Amino acid sequence: MTKGFTIDFSGKCIVVTGGNRGIGLAFSEACANAGATVAIIYRSSKDAEKVAERIGREHGVKAKAYQCDVGDEELVTETFKKIDDELGPITGLIANAGVSVVKPALELTAADFKKVYDVNVLGVFNTAKAAAKLWKERKAKGGSIVITSSMSSQIINQVAENKALTQVFYNSSKGAVSNLVKGLAAEWAQYGIRVNTVSPGYVNTDQTSGMDKNIRDYQANNVPLGRFAQPEEMTGQAILLLSEYASYMTGGEYFVDGGQLIW
Ligand code: NDP
Repeated sequence: MTKGFTIDFSGKCIVVTGGNRGIGLAFSEACANAGATVAIIYRSSKDAEKVAERIGREHGVKAKAYQCDVGDEELVTETFKKIDDELGPITGLIANAGVSVVKPALELTAADFKKVYDVNVLGVFNTAKAAAKLWKERKAKGGSIVITSSMSSQIINQVAENKALTQVFYNSSKGAVSNLVKGLAAEWAQYGIRVNTVSPGYVNTDQTSGMDKNIRDYQANNVPLGRFAQPEEMTGQAILLLSEYASYMTGGEYFVDGGQLIW
C-alpha cells in the first residue's frame, strides 16, 4: 500500500478506450500525469496519434494510440496483445468508449441497437475480457478495470423539453453495464481483478455539444450543482479506482453527477 496520499502510477500501463477526446482524453491525461504509460484506443479519429504524442511529451511518459473497434472481439484481443508487447505489461483498463443514437423509440431499428450495444456493452466486455485474460495468463494477481457508465443507468435522460424524446438504447445499454460490472467483479475477484464504474452526469463533450440550448439550460438547472461538468472532473474517481487506495472496492457503480441522482 502506498503511504500518504500520493498516487504514483510509474511502472503502470493503462489502456483507455476512447482516450483521444472528451472524458477519455481527460482520463488519458490524468493517468499520464500520475506517471503511467498510456495506450489510447480510438475508432476513426484523424488526430489520435498526435494526441498521444503530445500527452507523452507533456507528461514525460510513453503514450501511443491504437486504432481498434472495441466491438470487434478478434481485433481487441490482437490490439491488447500488441499493447502489452510494445508498452506493457498492461496493469489497468478504462473502458470508456461509448456512443448514442438519438431518435424517437418508434423510429429505432435493430441496426441502431447494434450500433449502440456493440460499443457500450459488447465493447466494454471485449476489452475487459482481453485485459483479464492477459492478467490471468500472466498469473499477475491484480488489475483494475474502470468502466465509464452513466447516471442514465438509473434514470431516463430526456433530450427534448416535452419529455417526448429520450435515448432508449443508450439508457438501456448503460443499465446493462451496471449488471455487467457486478458479474465481472464477482467472477474475477478470484484473480484479484477489481471492476468498477465511474458513472458521469452531464459532461461538456462532443456527445452533449449538439444538445438544444433550451434543454441544455433546463438540464443544467436540474443539477444540484447547477451546471454540466468538465471532463477533468471525472478523473478523481477513475484515478482512485485504478489505485491501491481502492484495493477493497469492486463491483461498485460510482456516480459523479453533481448530485443529479438526488432528485
Ligand atoms: P465522445 O463522443 O466525446 O467520445 C467518444 C469516444 O469513443 C471517442 O474517443 C471515439 O473514438 C470512441 N469510440 C466510439 N466508438 C468506438 C469504437 N467502436 N471503438 C473504439 N473507440 C470508439 O464521448 P464522451 O467523452 O462524451 O463520453 C465518453 C464516455 O462517457 C461514454 O461511454 C459515454 O457514454 C459516457 N458518458 C458521457 C456523458 C456526457 O455527458 N458526455 C455522460 C455520461 C456518460 P473516435 O474519436 O475515433 O471516434
